[in-house]
Amino acid sequence: MTASAVLKPGRDKAVRHRHHWIFSGAIKDLPAFEDGDILAVRAAGGELLGHAYFNRKSSITGRMIAFGEEPPEAAVRRSLERALALRAGLFDPAVTNARRLVNSEGDGLPGLVADMYDDVLVLQVATLGMDKLKPAVVAQLTAALRPRAVIERSDLPARREEGLEPVEAVLSGEPVDRVRIVEAGLPFWVGLAKGQKTGFYLDQRESRDLVRRFAPGRRVLNAFSYTGSFSVCALAGGAVRADSVDTSAAALALAQENFELNGLAADSGLFFEADVFEFLREPALDHDFIILDPPAFAKRRTDVVAACRGYKDINRLALQRLRAPGFLLTFSCSHFVDETLFQQVVFQAAHEAGRRVRILQKHRQAFDHPVNVYHPETAYLKGFLLYVD
Ligand code: SAH
Repeated sequence: MTASAVLKPGRDKAVRHRHHWIFSGAIKDLPAFEDGDILAVRAAGGELLGHAYFNRKSSITGRMIAFGEEPPEAAVRRSLERALALRAGLFDPAVTNARRLVNSEGDGLPGLVADMYDDVLVLQVATLGMDKLKPAVVAQLTAALRPRAVIERSDLPARREEGLEPVEAVLSGEPVDRVRIVEAGLPFWVGLAKGQKTGFYLDQRESRDLVRRFAPGRRVLNAFSYTGSFSVCALAGGAVRADSVDTSAAALALAQENFELNGLAADSGLFFEADVFEFLREPALDHDFIILDPPAFAKRRTDVVAACRGYKDINRLALQRLRAPGFLLTFSCSHFVDETLFQQVVFQAAHEAGRRVRILQKHRQAFDHPVNVYHPETAYLKGFLLYVD
């Protein structure tokens, strides 16, 4: 029988409510075990609540992978099957061949992200417990999907707390430098080479459709552009121009290649290697559609106040610079900044900029990044399409 972790009296509510995380403060007793091992999880009275993998090094000491009586290995297998079943049939591979297959707790699989880029499977493992489950996960996904290659890109800073080094490895098949994907009929390069900032923001797929729809006739500024996906979509939708700003020269170089791949004229957009906070202070902006998609400013709960100041600054600057009537599509991907708080930040920015601002639409991450209602931390991306006149 699997050894058991026992929770303190009154500290079992989250697990009973199918939340995945067990904080160290909720644990009464731990048996002898090796970090990363799976243990049964019991209430103080002895009732079996499920199974979690544990790591004493992490403040989130346990992460539930099975609830109730289900054996943990079978639960992981079933969660993977369910994740694949959810996405099956929802993508026409001729139109969109890149999708997220597993979205960690959103699919009941803490510590695991799996993305499919055409026929290349890319895994990201965040925890020691999931690292130990990796061989079984890779075997099951490989059998189900028959990928040309399986690449691991586990370079998350969170791994350090777990006692894990960053890993960039080819788990099966040939090394792949880059993959050409299509999304909504548009081709993009996704860089996967070692050492290079890589991947594609699949979570913004539905926002890219939106940009395309609102772009006709607009001069677009894509701030925090990464590899230029919003810029390409804006031009595909009929924008007059789409300029891209990012601090990463490598990302901008790939953005330029994405323009070429889409047959876009060299003069359809400029590429600025610059800090957005400074760029937005330039007087000469004539854009009437600005996109702000910054990295997560709040990586920890204690960062929230400083993060909100950052969000407010860029939104205020963008609202001041935007040529009216125009659109501002603004995002936060910090899960510590919820939608209500982000809307307050936008209100403050609008107030300080003295502009008339209306919300036309609200956005969240694309549907293949599901939010687990039992684990609301899985909702991280929120965005507003604002109209300024
Ligand atoms: N909108 C993009 C994803 C943006 S990711 C897409 O959908 O593809 C965030 C990007 O912001 C990264 O490319 C990073 O290099 C860039 N970045 C981070 N801080 C920055 C800053 N202060 N100024 C400009 N770019 C920045």
